[in-house]
Amino acid sequence: MLSRRSFSAMAALACLTSPSVLNARSKARVLVVGAGAAGLTAAYHLANAGADVRILEASSRWGGRLKRVDGFSEVPLDLGAEWLHDDPTMLGQIIGRGDTDLDVETIDYRPQTYRFWHEGELHSLNALRHAYGEVKFYDTTWYGFFERFILPTVRNLIEFNAPVSKIASIGDGISAHLESGAILNADKILITVPLSVLQQDRIVFSADLAEPRLRHLKDIRFGQGFKIFMKFTERFYPDILMFGSRWKVLQDSWDEKIYYDAALGKPTRDNILGLFTVSEASLPRAVLDDRALLQSVMTELTEIFGDVVDRTFVKAEVQNWSRDPHILGSYSMSNNSDMDIGDILAPLSGRVYFAGEALGGDAQSTVHGAAFSAIDAVESLIGD
Ligand SMILES: Cc1cc2nc3c(=O)[nH]c(=O)nc-3n(C[C@H](O)[C@H](O)[C@H](O)COP(=O)(O)OP(=O)(O)OC[C@H]3O[C@@H](n4cnc5c(N)ncnc54)[C@H](O)[C@@H]3O)c2cc1C
Repeated sequence: MLSRRSFSAMAALACLTSPSVLNARSKARVLVVGAGAAGLTAAYHLANAGADVRILEASSRWGGRLKRVDGFSEVPLDLGAEWLHDDPTMLGQIIGRGDTDLDVETIDYRPQTYRFWHEGELHSLNALRHAYGEVKFYDTTWYGFFERFILPTVRNLIEFNAPVSKIASIGDGISAHLESGAILNADKILITVPLSVLQQDRIVFSADLAEPRLRHLKDIRFGQGFKIFMKFTERFYPDILMFGSRWKVLQDSWDEKIYYDAALGKPTRDNILGLFTVSEASLPRAVLDDRALLQSVMTELTEIFGDVVDRTFVKAEVQNWSRDPHILGSYSMSNNSDMDIGDILAPLSGRVYFAGEALGGDAQSTVHGAAFSAIDAVESLIGD
């Protein structure tokens, strides 16, 4: 059974090395930049290890690319990460409890009906049900998981509306310069912002820290994308709708755009159609405002399914990650640099560390990849 990430290549996911449980203690003063999956996980483990931690978050909310829409349906929906792209035992590993049963219900996500739209016609390819399957939360979300297990430990450590613009050395320590002009000092800094933020030099480094290898960050592909949930009074769509020829569907269209039944296997009778798109192919739409974006999607759906779309439409929720000023896209993808991402983002002067989905290794671009990279970074930060 293949996951969406491995579907195109038709190759099984490589097994992840589970992070070890952190037993070390630390009295270090650590600033964590970013309150997404990586930043929250890092702060959780640092706080449990006894470190003096503060999280600096640019926006007014925690979660980064974890975001939940409540009240849209009977079930909560994830506007960012939604699928568990590996075995659910990863959940216990994220919070350092190994394979403990966390009482988090998940479902096997196995779509049965596949259609693809090609040259003005709908075709079926239901045989794909034998090839694809993965895991989703039953009645919670990725956001809900972090809210339940991680947030209670770190909530009071987060400083919101605190965008960092510069990292500079100061004596044996390190300082974070905020856009507000404030300067905060620490022993170590862990940067977990999206790769796009570093690629666009939204955070700069003092000359002694700015190693030439950081230039290679710009060689890593960072996608564009958005998600939309639409509620209808009728279910006129298949479990999955893709675009392109049969061959193209098998090759790469998951990377571009899929419509999917977001309520499949969930405890609701609501009809919720999701649209997920994360590659550069979504750029022409990702620059649109939410209203124009939804309009273009409704026009596309009407072309495919006819006037049932307008007739049964109830409401929609749009999340355009490309227009979020602190995310600036979807997630990191292929790397065109000669250097590994881990080498490009190796610690600077033993004081500045990096974590986040781009450093997730085999689990790059996922939540658990971001969280595991944070655990790795905390281990080396405490050990150094
Ligand atoms: C549409 C979409 C669908 C996805 N689907 C899935 C899925 O189904 N399953 C899955 O596992 N993964 C999925 N992902 C990927 C997953 O969401 C990410 O890999 C993961 O959430 C990234 O976590 P992170 O901590 O690395 O970064 P982020 O969550 O982006 O956190 C970084 C934080 O840094 C903050 N920040 C930015 N700039 C600054 C600054 N200058 N100063 C201070 N703070 C700053 C940001 O506001 C943000 O809160 C999806 C992503 C997208 C966009």
